[in-house]
Amino acid sequence: MIEKASSLGLKVYPLEPGALVVENRTALKCAYGCRNYGERLSCPPYVLSIEEFRKILLEYSNALLLMEEHNTKDIGDVLEAWGKFQKESFRKMLELEQDAFRKGFIFAQLLRPGPCNECEKCNLKKCVKPELRRFPPEAVGVNLQKILEKAGIELEFYKPNKIVCVGVLLVG
Ligand code: SF4
Repeated sequence: MIEKASSLGLKVYPLEPGALVVENRTALKCAYGCRNYGERLSCPPYVLSIEEFRKILLEYSNALLLMEEHNTKDIGDVLEAWGKFQKESFRKMLELEQDAFRKGFIFAQLLRPGPCNECEKCNLKKCVKPELRRFPPEAVGVNLQKILEKAGIELEFYKPNKIVCVGVLLVG
């Protein structure tokens, strides 16, 4: 799977069991300050609760941290480009999830980079592309910064020349 990830242009970091840090306080950041709160069925309050996710996580023993860097040096509107890059990275990460499934990891599940942006406007009632509906790690309490630190990756904020899309693949 690591080879497959590399062939898709993704960086992959195997995570130790228990490396996925889940914290209740991430709920604050979703509910107060995120423009996607309540705007997408992939985000709170429409997804599993942090408590539910914590319980589910106990049934997984392997996970992969997935990253893709996008060069934004020559891009004028980085915010607009963010949606496009996010979708591109999501599709690659989803391909990896499907590959894991085919290899026998039937519970492989991707936590996607950023909120779902498969439809221009989410209808907030019933997902029209349920096969693509995934939630981001932060939406269920995952503290990505701590995971990156544990994986030895320095998180750089506000770098004008690159956007980094980060996802997590729960493997089995
Ligand atoms: S696929 Fe469309 S309807 Fe489903 S969560 Fe994403 S934006 Fe909403």
